Amino acid sequence: MGRKLAVIALGGNALLRGDQIGTIEEQEQNTTDTLENLVFLLEEGYNLIITHGNGPQVGNILMRNDAGEQLYGIAQMPVDICVADSQGGIGYMIERMFRNVLNRHGIKRNIVCIVTQVLVDSNDPAFSDPQKRIGKICSREEAERLSREKGWVFREEIKVDGGYRRVVPSPVPVGIMNDNVIRELALNGHIVIAAGGGGIPVYLDENNDVRTTEAVVDKDMASSLLATRTGADEFYILTDVPYVYINYKKPDQQVKEFLNYADARRYLDEGHFSKGSMAPKIEACLNFIRNGGRMSVITEAFKLADKKYGTKITMEYED
Ligand code: ADP
Ligand code: MG
Repeated sequence: MGRKLAVIALGGNALLRGDQIGTIEEQEQNTTDTLENLVFLLEEGYNLIITHGNGPQVGNILMRNDAGEQLYGIAQMPVDICVADSQGGIGYMIERMFRNVLNRHGIKRNIVCIVTQVLVDSNDPAFSDPQKRIGKICSREEAERLSREKGWVFREEIKVDGGYRRVVPSPVPVGIMNDNVIRELALNGHIVIAAGGGGIPVYLDENNDVRTTEAVVDKDMASSLLATRTGADEFYILTDVPYVYINYKKPDQQVKEFLNYADARRYLDEGHFSKGSMAPKIEACLNFIRNGGRMSVITEAFKLADKKYGTKITMEYED
């Protein structure tokens, strides 16, 4: 019986809205609102894999790390451990909220959360050009001290005058550990939460030992790879805009309800989608479609169930 498999990527906003401080109550409420939106897919018989971002949460973990060292001399944990911590915390929260949502709807499914490592290439050019800003904004003096003491790389922060921020590489994901297990669980009807925060980037050395990196992987790119590797039919990216637009925020802004592969690629090349926000989402959708996925949808987290919203990306336009 051909149940469809969907991978759903929850963006930062699906868990924590920009105008909130990030208390656990706020995150639980947003998560519940988002998950309520997914119930119709379960009622239609879909199997689900959920992925999620971790930007604000891992940022907070890094700052607690820093404060703990300064106040109590607690050894700082490396980025891979911080990402793993965020997968555990956020994944647990999504799992618990989903159990309660399903309970209210009388739906019986198991939900499992998998701490996920994502394979990257140790020769990825990103390792010699760190771009992803993480952790707190600090002064030039502090940035200099930290780069001396810890070997971290800093860049000027665009948002705050005279501020500096640590940057780490963001390599392309090339494999997902346990993708076959994740697929197996999902195809058996269990809801799987995986690849949180883009996964924990690791690589295999010449002896096939797993080595860590001080890096982060884009969550949309990792989610798309997971969707491909698990043979998903559909890939949803839930964020804070109801549609993808061209000429975004310009007087001639135009909603795109449907995009085919070629047009989406052309708009991407023409610069309609901002780097670091919409561009990686479009790229992730295109990768999924190119590798055999049927449809990608980008829409606002709380609007998925309302099917009139969302930009659908397919290989060809559908009549
Ligand atoms: P998330 O945190 O949910 O992963 P991001 O903040 O990275 O999402 O990306 C979503 C943002 O992309 C939107 O809030 C919007 O401001 C921005 N964006 C950039 N270009 C476009 C575009 N062409 N159409 C729609 N949104 C766009
Ligand atoms: Mg965001």
